[in-house]
Amino acid sequence: MTPGLRPLIAGNWKMHGTLRASVALAEAIRAGADGLNAELLICPPFPYIQAIAMSLLGQPIAIGAQDCHLVVQGAHTGDVAAPMLRDCGATYVILGHSERRADHGETDAVVKAKAATAIAHGLTPIICVGETLAQREAGEAESVVRAQLSGSLPDGFAEADGVVAYEPVWAIGTGKTPTEADIAAIHAALRQAAGATTRLLYGGSVKPGNAAAILALPHVDGALVGGASLVAEDFLAIARAA
Ligand code: PGA
Repeated sequence: MTPGLRPLIAGNWKMHGTLRASVALAEAIRAGADGLNAELLICPPFPYIQAIAMSLLGQPIAIGAQDCHLVVQGAHTGDVAAPMLRDCGATYVILGHSERRADHGETDAVVKAKAATAIAHGLTPIICVGETLAQREAGEAESVVRAQLSGSLPDGFAEADGVVAYEPVWAIGTGKTPTEADIAAIHAALRQAAGATTRLLYGGSVKPGNAAAILALPHVDGALVGGASLVAEDFLAIARAA
């Protein structure tokens, strides 16, 4: 943790759930959220954002999207613009997740443009970076992550209360995590690059059993949680560890 920064525990629900189950999950998380030190954020699939925002109206849980387009309107079939997300109740947006980089060919330049648009329209971007297993084994993790970050951060990022998430690709959904020393080393590098007040999240197989140790590391200011965020009790247990 970084003194003075409020930890952020973010749930990335990815492409899971039904409308009814997603609203119920959000409400179950809300029911257990009182008295937490950490800020809670849930990022449901696009079609469920508004319903969840309505059901959590006035409650201290933030809502985010998992992507947005880099322009704000136009002929872009199937895409969703930052102002639309803001309009539906989102205040955060995850950008450059490795699944989007892989599935949709998103480059650092695209992520940077999306982040600038998100900031301009009142969304706090969570910019994701992380190395592949081959890059880690080649000893390139830190240089890869530094390069991704410098290519993906727009001007004004720190001032916009932006967030950076370090998510090693090989740790996502696998049950594997880097050593604590490896996480700390990458986060120290990110701190230098992202500024003193940017919250730095770790993501990749965060569970109730490993959350306290990871969240205690220097410059780890929260977690981006995938699988475990789909179970209210697990997500809340991770939040309580922050
Ligand atoms: P995981 O996913 O917690 O299921 O590993 C994390 C993420 O992809 O954000």
